[in-house]
Amino acid sequence: MDDLKDHVAVVTGGGRGIGREVARELASRGARVAVVSRNPESCGSAVEAIHAEFPGQAAAYAVDVADHTAVQEVAKRILGDLGGTDILVNNAGITRDGLLMRMKEEDWDAVLDTNLKGAFNTVKAFMRPLMKSEHGRIINIASVIGLIGNAGQANYSASKAGLIGFTKAVARELAGRAVTCNAVAPGFITTDMTSELPESVREAVLAKIPLATFGEPRDIAAAVAYLAGPSARYITGQVLAVDGGMTM
Ligand code: NAP
Repeated sequence: MDDLKDHVAVVTGGGRGIGREVARELASRGARVAVVSRNPESCGSAVEAIHAEFPGQAAAYAVDVADHTAVQEVAKRILGDLGGTDILVNNAGITRDGLLMRMKEEDWDAVLDTNLKGAFNTVKAFMRPLMKSEHGRIINIASVIGLIGNAGQANYSASKAGLIGFTKAVARELAGRAVTCNAVAPGFITTDMTSELPESVREAVLAKIPLATFGEPRDIAAAVAYLAGPSARYITGQVLAVDGGMTM
């Protein structure tokens, strides 16, 4: 399928896990993809893997999405290199879990700065080219935890609930410029982020998933590609849960 041919996509957190699969999926549909991650090795290796299948369709950019000034600078480089932006996927995210009683201020700040302010930083940086595109799409990767909360994740829950509010406000602000803005809320997806959870926690989560299996990054990539593609042109301000039925 080449429904994203001639489109430029920016995927944050594209070095590993869900973002890496999203970047690959968008490239497979013809988009040229700026793969953004914190470490150059991470986005570099994702781009190498994309080039092996889809030569010349990706470029790597290392930046901390929480750093407002650095994001504006890297955005200028991306726009210079790729010539515009049609699709922005805000996927970079971290956890710093702990019960509120013991949660340190720096754990709160780190999670909010990356997961929520990071999206503000990139939307600010790419808003003009998205408005110029005839096909502007913003897709924010939230979480079911932003919908239902989770003990031990007050910072993460707040960041993802905030991202959902941000999604709806941006959808309303940019609708007049034909830019859509939606969120995907993954359930439990097998990546580095979830691999370190103790077996007991994994079993407890599994018991709450009606489809009785964990999701894979490709499940999220398929939802993002749908929202980025022409079939989703009339969908904005929505939250699409991809969670095996956890939050139905
Ligand atoms: P992951 O495997 O830990 O990968 C996270 C990616 O984000 C990495 O490429 C990392 O860069 C990048 N990143 C983190 N902080 C960054 C920063 N400050 N600046 C730039 N890049 C940064 O995570 P994942 O499981 O794929 O999760 C991706 C997104 O889905 C996150 O927003 C997460 O909250 C959300 N989500 C995940 C699950 C799940 O079950 N896995 C469920 C719901 C929602 P480096 O590679 O350079 O470190």
